[in-house]
Amino acid sequence: KNDKGHYTVPIIEGDGIGPEISEAVKEIYRAAKVPIDWLPVDVTPRLINGKTSIPSETIEAINKHKIALKGPLATPVGKGHVSLNLTLRRTFNLFANVRPCKSIKGYKTPYDNVDTVLIRENTEGEYSGIEHTVVPGVVQSIKLITRGASERVCRYAFEHARNTGKSKVLVVHKATVMKLGDGLFLEAALAVAKDYPDISVHTELIDNTCLKMVTDPSPYQEYVMVMPNLYGDIMSDLCSGLIGGLGLTPSGNMGVETSIFEAVHGSAPDIAGKGVANPTALLLSSVMMLQHMGLSSHADKIENAVLTTLASGPENITRDLRGSASTKHFTEQVISRL
Ligand code: NAD
Repeated sequence: KNDKGHYTVPIIEGDGIGPEISEAVKEIYRAAKVPIDWLPVDVTPRLINGKTSIPSETIEAINKHKIALKGPLATPVGKGHVSLNLTLRRTFNLFANVRPCKSIKGYKTPYDNVDTVLIRENTEGEYSGIEHTVVPGVVQSIKLITRGASERVCRYAFEHARNTGKSKVLVVHKATVMKLGDGLFLEAALAVAKDYPDISVHTELIDNTCLKMVTDPSPYQEYVMVMPNLYGDIMSDLCSGLIGGLGLTPSGNMGVETSIFEAVHGSAPDIAGKGVANPTALLLSSVMMLQHMGLSSHADKIENAVLTTLASGPENITRDLRGSASTKHFTEQVISRL
């Protein structure tokens, strides 16, 4: 809290549609009188000693306030820089990525009973960035799995289940094929499960989970799912698709001390600057952030306004949801429902 009794929250507006959706969030927060002062921070990458890094002022600000809200950052394909998203996760040791997906009342999709929570290991696995060319035409890409990181994310999943009233944890893996790597993840999960006798542990192969999830998502309501990095990345987009797409799904990158909340989607360069982006995912990410900060009444107020706007008809929702509203119109509609 600062001297005005407000919380200072660093905001990374991001690339592409990032500034447009960040502006929508700020307008809605102003109207809702949320006691937050935004601190814009710059994450333009710097190459220091051959390593991609973000400006030290930004690192200091986020470490100081222990929280940030982040818009999408564009990652050039096949260029020298490590993904900035990865850099942020590593810099702040954001080891667990929490991605809830819940059907939105009034917005019709093939299933209206999706309510999943997926926790993705966020620091290693297939995204460790350890790749090399053995000989031209042959590349090795290393999937790194450690007991420490696996236990840490699985413990987070059990704690999350306990704190949110879920009685089951589902460990999703492919240890039948990746016997050592996924085998270690699974072993770590089962070891952690012993500390949570009130929560039952279940295991499932990733391909089977995908099949069952798109056939009938309802049984997954009971679980908190936890899985290695790449599976979590793909599986959470699959869950997003079930509720209406990436424009709707929030996430939290949780660390030991610091957490960064961000939309799951990217910078949407195809619609950037056109005023048609859907700010819902960033708004719902900010709602997760408010809950994390203990500002639940503000969180509920904003969440309700967003959900009732989404259910209020095609003229009030954006094009990605088969509506006709601009970002500005959607934002005004949310404000009118606060
Ligand atoms: P994307 O999520 O940016 O876009 C995929 C499709 O969804 C596009 O058609 C886009 O218009 C649409 N879309 C996404 N968000 C939307 C929103 N809020 N409102 C309306 N429509 C929306 O994925 P991409 O095109 O594969 O990636 C573009 C860039 O974003 C890449 O540089 C990628 O590396 C980056 N990216 C960043 C993050 C992140 O910062 N966390 C995540 C994914 C991708």
